[in-house]
Order: sequence, then C-alpha cells, then structure tokens
Amino acid sequence: MLNVTDLVVNYGAIQAVKKVSFEIHTGEIVTLIGANGAGKSTILQTISGIMRPKSGQMTYLGQPIQKTSAPKIVQAGISQVPEGRHIFPGLSVQENLQMGAFLRKDRSAIKQAYADVYQYFPVLKQRRHQDAATLSGGEQQMLAMGRALMAAPKLMLLDEPSMGLAPIFINEIFEIIKAINAAGTTVLLIEQNAKKALSIADRGYVLASGHIKLSGTGQDLLANQAVQQAYLGG
Ligand code: ATP
Repeated sequence: MLNVTDLVVNYGAIQAVKKVSFEIHTGEIVTLIGANGAGKSTILQTISGIMRPKSGQMTYLGQPIQKTSAPKIVQAGISQVPEGRHIFPGLSVQENLQMGAFLRKDRSAIKQAYADVYQYFPVLKQRRHQDAATLSGGEQQMLAMGRALMAAPKLMLLDEPSMGLAPIFINEIFEIIKAINAAGTTVLLIEQNAKKALSIADRGYVLASGHIKLSGTGQDLLANQAVQQAYLGG
C-alpha cells in the first residue's frame, strides 16, 4: 500500500531522516518505534505532505506522492492523527468531527461516518455538544482519532496516541486501534510506548538517529534482546 524508499528529510542543515526505507501492506498495523528525536514524527509529516523530502520516493497505491499536497493526500485516503491531538478548542466535539469530513461531499456517507465514530467512542456521542477543550486528555485523543476517521481513511497515521495518557486510557486507545484496523483501515503507528505498539503490530521498524536499525514482526521485535534493552526497559 505504501512504499517508502531511501527517504531523506532535513530541517535546514539538520538531517532528521537518513535514507529510510520501509513498506506497509494493506490491512497491516505497522509501527515505527524509537527514542525521542529518532525521526518518527518527521516521517509521518512527510507522508502526510506537510514536510517535503530532500530525496527518496514514496508511493501510495502505486502512485508517487512525494510532491502531493497535504489536502490531496487526505483525499487519497491517508489521514494523520497528530501528536498532541490538535483539536479545535471553542468548537464542539461534533464540530471538530465535522472538520475531519471537510473534503467529503456525500452526505449519507458522512452521516454513516458519525455513526461509526460514535460507535467506537460512545463518550464522544455523550459529549457531542460540549466544547472540545473541556474533554480529558484521553477523550481528546479519541476525538483526534474520530476526526481522522471522518475522512474515511484507507491508511491512518497515528503519532504517539498514548502520550500523556493514564494507563486505563492507553489500553482503551490500543484496543480501539485494533478494532479500527480489524474493520479495514491500515495503520501506521508511531510510539514511544514500544511494548504496547509492538504487541498490537503485525510488523515494526526500530528507528535510531534517522536510520532504521532493525525490522521484524511485532512478536519478533518484542522478543529481541537488543530491543528489550534499548526500548522495553530491559
Ligand atoms: P519525538 O518523539 O520527540 O517527536 P521523533 O522520533 O518523532 O521524536 P522527530 O521529531 O522526527 O523525532 O525529530 C527528528 C530530528 O529532527 C531530531 O533531531 C529533532 O531535533 C529534529 N527536529 C525536529 N523538528 C525540528 C524542527 N522543527 N527544526 C529543527 N530540527 C527539528
């Protein structure tokens, strides 16, 4: 579904991503794990069309996308759930969700999307008229995921969904990621919580200082000694 080859991304003179290659097959959950500053977010931003690669290729469903604009990427079926949620305060929960569907025209499909989102996240339905800023951190993460789902993505990019959440919310969010995937959405998950991410991932890549150091199935990486020492607390 997505093939990334020799991707290089710079911030001025800083090379954040150094010839990274990976692939995501339709239906998979793939995770990129790695420490702070490894380049994970930069890769997501580049897939989303927010940042431009210095060099390398990205193909999505067989089409090159390295020059495609961010709105066109969304229209093509790739939605990002950004780190830190970035919900719109001052707008209700429902209005935030509506923003996720802003490129869609089919009203009955949009109606169905609300129903799907409210099924995944019943709390959002309860709070649909509430200002989004009044939601807890976990609920804001749900809203950010719901907003991405409103675009009916084929591929969902999740940037640190567990960040700053209480353990009970983390478990719930990961269960919902599995459910969204089981319903047909392919997932690319960026996480510092490597244990959780690998435990739900079909495959994973370990990123360090802008390079891919290791790759394998989620289970293989969980069992890998070097991964355990570096990322799973020994
Ligand atoms: P984090 O979990 O902290 O977001 P990450 O693995 O997602 O880490 P990136 O945010 O992609 O890593 O950062 C990769 C490298 O690029 C780091 O060295 C970081 O300092 C640098 N970097 C990130 N954003 C900028 C920026 N806006 N300007 C300059 N350098 C940046």
